[in-house]
Amino acid sequence: MDFLVARQRMVSTQLPGIRDQRVLEVMGRVPRHRFVDPALWPQAYSDYPLPIGNGQTISQPYMVALMTESLRLNGGEKILEIGTGSGYQTAILAEFSSRVFSVEREPVLAQRAREILSKLGYENVAIRVGDGSKGWSQFSPFDRILVTASAPSMPHSLIEQLSDDGLIVIPVGEWDHQVLKVLEMRERKAIVDDICSCTFVPLIGEEGWQD
Ligand code: SAM
Repeated sequence: MDFLVARQRMVSTQLPGIRDQRVLEVMGRVPRHRFVDPALWPQAYSDYPLPIGNGQTISQPYMVALMTESLRLNGGEKILEIGTGSGYQTAILAEFSSRVFSVEREPVLAQRAREILSKLGYENVAIRVGDGSKGWSQFSPFDRILVTASAPSMPHSLIEQLSDDGLIVIPVGEWDHQVLKVLEMRERKAIVDDICSCTFVPLIGEEGWQD
């Protein structure tokens, strides 16, 4: 299978509505197949989530592109990602920023993500095992925070760890159905906008869902 061709087809046919050319270019460059089991490589450029073990999934390419675009990255931002999973979205973020911090609660997934990101040459990523619903205060404030698991409400710790004009993208809602939201700080006020409805795996933790 020619993965480059598959990736280019994914970009040209499966990412309708994504207008940020830099996001499209990065999606066309990062090898999604390397973040899943080789048995799943033939499906790696189809537009659906795939299992990555521990009951978790790598998000569908469209959702990864939409969340990345919604972060409105300029290049210099310090980014916090909650829910490393396979590390695919982490790699996309690392293409935009020199400082990406990511928290994953499943140690096996965190270790696998570290290994593949290192093999692919991403050296600007730090991954911690823990409850990301409380953020990563040691390295705060963050200019952008992306949460790739769904919360019942906006975690306060994440808002507290946001820089003055920072932005959070997070799915918020019910256990089985949520709305992807953007929270933007403007003159110290939080403005929240809805992007679209969505379904994510739960954010399990102190400021997420109970285990
Ligand atoms: N972005 C990932 C990728 O590209 O593969 C997919 C993330 S997956 C949809 C959501 C991840 O959030 C899972 O790996 C899950 O273990 C993790 N997660 C759930 N609750 C968490 C928490 N409180 N802190 C950190 N990670 C958490």
